[in-house]
Amino acid sequence: MNIILLGPPGAGKGTQARRLVEERNMIQLSTGDMLREARTSGTEMGQIVADVMDRGDLVTDEIVIGLIDEKLSGDAAGGFIFDGFPRTLRQADALTRSLEKAGMSLDAVIEMQVDDEALVRRITGRFTCGSCGEVYHDETKRPAVEGVCDVCGGTEMKHRADDNADSLKQRLMEYYKKTSPLIGYYYAKGQLHTVDGLAEIEDVAASIAAVLDGTA
Ligand code: AMP
Repeated sequence: MNIILLGPPGAGKGTQARRLVEERNMIQLSTGDMLREARTSGTEMGQIVADVMDRGDLVTDEIVIGLIDEKLSGDAAGGFIFDGFPRTLRQADALTRSLEKAGMSLDAVIEMQVDDEALVRRITGRFTCGSCGEVYHDETKRPAVEGVCDVCGGTEMKHRADDNADSLKQRLMEYYKKTSPLIGYYYAKGQLHTVDGLAEIEDVAASIAAVLDGTA
């Protein structure tokens, strides 16, 4: 199955995508992760991307569509999870075309609904393991042993450069202006499913599983 996880920054898309990778052998395609990798490359493109991301703006459609296209040709036994892509109507159209070209289709779009106040709380306390990417939170999910990742034992914990109040405000504005129209777009195509992103992680996972298994 190929699915899109749709929702504002901090909705929990990455956390749920990682579970689906483990439980269903799916492949997570996170344009945010790809761009964070690009910004460490030391290239001119990396620098431009870094500035845009730190401001909380969207990177150009051309760049992200190119990144996704490169990944779609490989083997995807369990299907793809598009995490943080598409974020504009143009990206959504490009994804439809790219999937068609690769002989694939989109099976479901799962919108994770979360209110703004919760997003701010979630994002400002968020940190991740630098080795495996496991996501933690200052208040709600600390590692069992302080500074040591529960999953891989890594000891380098990172806060994202764009997880600060100014950048977050801009990222939310970009979401409402440019990404939220995708909710109507996929609803009209009959592909939209909505889950409560404020529920416990396990419950959100169960709601997503019900959509994927056709029991929702
Ligand atoms: P994320 O990790 O998905 O929250 O993305 C972090 C940042 O990367 C965003 O605030 C954007 O600057 C950029 N970004 C990620 N995905 C996209 C996309 N599909 N289109 C444009 N910019 C993106």
